Amino acid sequence: MTIEKAQTHFRNGDFSARELTQAYIDEIQKKNKDIFAYLEVFDNALKDADKADEMIKSGNIKPLTGIPVALKDNMLVEGEICSAGSKILENYNSTYDGTMAKILKNHGAVILGRTNMDEFAMGSSTENSAYGVTKNPYDLSTVAGGSSGGSTSAVAGDMALLSLGSDTGGSIRQPASFCGVVGFKPTYGVVSRSGIIPMGNSLDQIGPIAKNVSDAEIFFNAIKIHDPLDAQSIPEEKRIFENKKVKKIGVPWHLFKEGVDPEVLENFKNSIEKFKNAGYEIIDIDLSKAQHSLAVYYVIMPAEVSTNLSRFDGIRYGVSAPGKDLSEVYNKSRGAGFGKETRRRILLGTYILSHGHFDSYYSKALAVSEAIKDEFRKVFESVDVIVTPTSPTPAFKIGAKSDPLSMYLADIFTVPANIAGIPAISIPNGFTKNGLPLDIQFMAPHFADSLLFTLGKEFEKM
Ligand code: GLN
Repeated sequence: MTIEKAQTHFRNGDFSARELTQAYIDEIQKKNKDIFAYLEVFDNALKDADKADEMIKSGNIKPLTGIPVALKDNMLVEGEICSAGSKILENYNSTYDGTMAKILKNHGAVILGRTNMDEFAMGSSTENSAYGVTKNPYDLSTVAGGSSGGSTSAVAGDMALLSLGSDTGGSIRQPASFCGVVGFKPTYGVVSRSGIIPMGNSLDQIGPIAKNVSDAEIFFNAIKIHDPLDAQSIPEEKRIFENKKVKKIGVPWHLFKEGVDPEVLENFKNSIEKFKNAGYEIIDIDLSKAQHSLAVYYVIMPAEVSTNLSRFDGIRYGVSAPGKDLSEVYNKSRGAGFGKETRRRILLGTYILSHGHFDSYYSKALAVSEAIKDEFRKVFESVDVIVTPTSPTPAFKIGAKSDPLSMYLADIFTVPANIAGIPAISIPNGFTKNGLPLDIQFMAPHFADSLLFTLGKEFEKM
């Protein structure tokens, strides 16, 4: 099912939005106990569908009318729980609609429910959720990727037509890659983050997850609005989107020395051959500064995480522990309410920002981050897009990465786009011998979001 097909069927009266929604709910009921993509299906989903059917009857069909969408559990929907995959927000009931929910409701889309995620979006496997592990629909013994693993496995498992994820260091693209779906991280500031529970504000971006590039594009076009409620939202007059014909493709071959799975590498090389045969010029590029993106990310991100998460004190919403005074209540509640990875990053971030360390870590990381942005700017003077794998490996087994560093390395190809603030897309690209999805990632300069869709649609046909 695609957006276009669904809406054609609505128009022709073949089935209603309610019937389509019910079909997805039935699928969820069948599969969710094994896959665990959803934390909750919303009671209002069928009511949303009825509203969509009214709109369809009156001929008022918008690009997302009647389309069943799943939201990551860090996006507020009025009256619904939003827990960010954490026990500390177990009972947090959203008091308002975030901008994404507002747009979806305005379109008459159906909000099916909230999907599982790594706690506060920290992780690459959805194993850090406080509620359980999401499985990969292609192989239930492997992870779905993370942190938006619930959203990607919902789409891959036909439990939603579309979904939204958030991407701070790869959390849309990497799980999309593991689950064989399209995941898109827009240019920083193009899609509003108002009403999401933030992770690292200077890096966070919301973006679409879909079965194919065209659906991701339709979804992106619906959500890319200027929003005064997000301080980083780019004003209308500065949104000059570029969509030139891609001719030159840059490949940073020097990044593939170690840690890249042989099947991933071979598949990637074959894809580059396809591009060559289709007439594209392949240019070897140097990203030796961007190579340090992961190191920069693990300074800037925890610093922002530690400040963002300082507001959760365990007093009102979730796990709360008694103590003899307020400090002890905070300490015990935060100790019990946050999972291990979250606590690790709060400690790391607090250390990085503390007096005496700020200059040795945080200021340096900001300087390197500027150098990385500059490097991308220069590289894009000689190429139109950069192509890499999305993930260095296919989906791994549940429990396989027990040390944090090997987990962090899963984001080696995705983090640079967040540091630079540029758009990037992950597109399904065949399968391993064992039937696990493989991927390809394209990155483009700021505001060249549409160019990635154009190239992506061409690539799907190659
Ligand atoms: N996997 C990365 C991390 O653990 C990215 C997370 C994200 O993009 N939200 O931080």
